[in-house]
Amino acid sequence: MYIIPIYRIPLMEVAVMTVKFYTYILQCSDGSLYTGYTNNLEKRITKHNSGKGAKFTRGRGPVQLMFSEEFPSKEQAMARETEIKKLTRHKKLKIIKGDKEMTGNKQMTGNNKRGTLYLCATPIGNLEDITLRALRILREVSLIAAEDTRHTRKLLSYYGIHTPLTSYHEHNEKGKARFLIAELDAGKDVALVSDAGTPGISDPGYEVVSQALEEGFAVTPVPGPAALITALTCSGLPTDRFVFEGFLPRVKKERNRVLARMKSEDRTQILYESPRRIIKTLQELQELLGDRRVAVARELTKIHEEVVRGVLPDVISHFQANNPKGEFVIVLEGTKTEPTESSPPKATDLSQMVANLVAGGWDKKEAIREVARQTGTAKNKVYAAVLETKSE
Ligand code: SAM
Repeated sequence: MYIIPIYRIPLMEVAVMTVKFYTYILQCSDGSLYTGYTNNLEKRITKHNSGKGAKFTRGRGPVQLMFSEEFPSKEQAMARETEIKKLTRHKKLKIIKGDKEMTGNKQMTGNNKRGTLYLCATPIGNLEDITLRALRILREVSLIAAEDTRHTRKLLSYYGIHTPLTSYHEHNEKGKARFLIAELDAGKDVALVSDAGTPGISDPGYEVVSQALEEGFAVTPVPGPAALITALTCSGLPTDRFVFEGFLPRVKKERNRVLARMKSEDRTQILYESPRRIIKTLQELQELLGDRRVAVARELTKIHEEVVRGVLPDVISHFQANNPKGEFVIVLEGTKTEPTESSPPKATDLSQMVANLVAGGWDKKEAIREVARQTGTAKNKVYAAVLETKSE
């Protein structure tokens, strides 16, 4: 009998650092184009924007990343840089636009995978309000773009997630969207999160979503909390149809326009508001709408969660007696003058609705269109009602 010795060969973990290189084209603030190469796109763009980058981009900031190509070696990236630098502006623009002939060396990278942009909803207070899928995706993607990286890091450490973070907020939205698109183009999956709730809802997101879609990348929602839906569902007000107005505009003219529209809106309306302005806004709504029913949801899913339901004057008194603190959602009942098929709105009502909008700063034509939409009346009928009541 033969005994075959079994040798245990120790498995060695070999850490392979793969450095990638990028050739990129930037657009400067004066419209000129700059081509370069780097092994860290984000750092390089920040450098150009700090005025310490190439001589050419100094005084021409902020620069915007328009195009990047990934290469496995510095030599290839440099060669591509030299090649692009020789091109006319027109041809460079063609590269930016994604002309296949011009970007023929995609094969050199051996990377045909295009990344996916995931829109991950995160908790609006209670850290447990995050889906299993969101946690998996946040763990699996190459990069998380977060509104405030310090804030998101707390959530990630709570769940032991160590994915790299990059900032994406309202002040760098446009430029940073280009950077994220370049990452998707390099085959990386990116997750977008905001400080709380659903990205893009009164939060940054729109810019990168629209650019990603325009360039043919997959954009995948990973749904979860949003303060507006959370507040609506517990408000006790009709949930079948509703309008989300976000934060009311601060500029008076715009604010009046929205308020004028709200007066005749028959669907439930949802607003976001800060603790500093909540009482003033509720008073403004009462002046406009009288004793309308309202639910004010405060600190949803957090320790001090509170939903104050009642008519506007009572809810105002509550917050005058109890200093408003935290985050607020206002859910407002729609107007009750709902037209039905059996009782179409009267000409005087239609005309009054138009007059209310015009008083709020609406253009007359726009106001007629809006009233027609709100009441389900033909535009020419609303117009006729305005003329009829005018001539009376
Ligand atoms: N993206 C978020 C979402 O999906 O709801 C909204 C972000 S917006 C910048 C922040 C506002 O949302 C707050 O000022 C407040 O009006 C509302 N909000 C967020 N969290 C809330 C909470 N836990 N309770 C009440 N309102 C909240």
